[in-house]
Amino acid sequence: MAPVISVDEARDILRRACAPADAECIPVTEALHRVLARDVRSDVAWPPFDTSAMDGYAVRIADLSSGEAPEERAGLVAAGDRPGERLSPGEAVRVMTGAPIPEGTEAIVPVEDVRRENGRIFARITPRAGDHIRRRAEILPAGATLLTRGTRLSPSDLALAALAGADPIEVHRRARVAIAVTGSELVAASARPGPGQLRDSNGPMLAALCAARGVSASLRVAVEDEDGAVRRLFAEAGEDEDLLITSGGVSAGDLDLLPQEARRSGFEMLFHRVAVRPGKPVALGRRGRTLWLGLPGNPVSASVCFHLFGRHALDCLEGDAHPGPPVRRARMARDLAVRGERETYRDAILEEDGDEGPRVSPSESRGSHDLLAHARANVLIRVPAGAGNLRAGSPVDCVVLER
Ligand code: AMP
Ligand code: MG
Repeated sequence: MAPVISVDEARDILRRACAPADAECIPVTEALHRVLARDVRSDVAWPPFDTSAMDGYAVRIADLSSGEAPEERAGLVAAGDRPGERLSPGEAVRVMTGAPIPEGTEAIVPVEDVRRENGRIFARITPRAGDHIRRRAEILPAGATLLTRGTRLSPSDLALAALAGADPIEVHRRARVAIAVTGSELVAASARPGPGQLRDSNGPMLAALCAARGVSASLRVAVEDEDGAVRRLFAEAGEDEDLLITSGGVSAGDLDLLPQEARRSGFEMLFHRVAVRPGKPVALGRRGRTLWLGLPGNPVSASVCFHLFGRHALDCLEGDAHPGPPVRRARMARDLAVRGERETYRDAILEEDGDEGPRVSPSESRGSHDLLAHARANVLIRVPAGAGNLRAGSPVDCVVLER
């Protein structure tokens, strides 16, 4: 029997096993939540020219306090215009927001702070040098690196990419995932279970967990607990996918056939059994470039193991430099009794609590079949191996569940 390793060790093995998918060039407008395959450098400075932040008048400051008020130049400079002639002493130029300002401008006086009389400009305020001027390159110089490879792109990252001219943009291909549930007891969600049967809830859940990451996984038909059927599953694995995720059939029962059939089909077992509760039987195998992640069949175990391992696999396959679900720190709202020595994940509800920061209440869960408690939870409390009981008020790490 393979040794039982820790969650961290298993995750290290998993990360090393996931080679990032190839890069592809796609329109920047389609790149939301994709992972950047190459650094984005800007070919322009930002702002690209000295510009006005307000509709107003470009002025020299001394002209407003000494002698005659400055004279308004005919016409105006709008956004998109070329910069006008240099500002002469005693002159003011009407400029619009975003317009390139004439050389020699020391400040912009907003139009609402100005009185115009007989072609002259009287400011109601005394501007300071630089007021309402955005200087060329004050945010970044041309050639600056704006985004680094391995970044999962947010809407504002896409704005940076666009201003830098990174369109099309080079991102990793999406992970290709197939999902197969195993178990002779399973019927489809649309069917009525007969005696001894139950509906497959893992298939829809795992497909949705992938979809929530933007990965459209293909859902295979349920596989019976029978050598031939399991063998066929592994024989076909990898034709169209980087990762096969299964549920069920990895524990120690007589009909838990997946690990042995995976081996027979040429998969190398990278791990089988991890010191975690729930989810101990979880397995990882590899054949060529194809990975197999075997999740336990109990619905809560399947979900917990997806969050602990599956989510990392998807992220690593997409080249994400920060794989895995977010982890929040929170205070325990009450005591929690913990059984056993294994690293444990418990369904819980995290709430923001005003000044005191986030507070987390462990759910009453009946076990790894308690899908009801799990569906109502928004985080998993992580109880480190051997930590024993947790006290109310003590700080804990909480794995944020995909919504
Ligand atoms: P296994 O890991 O195959 O021993 O499955 C453990 C238990 O999880 C089974 O007895 C079922 O009650 C449940 N189970 C297995 N597969 C599914 C599934 N796809 N959907 C819902 N429950 C399942
Ligand atoms: Mg089973």
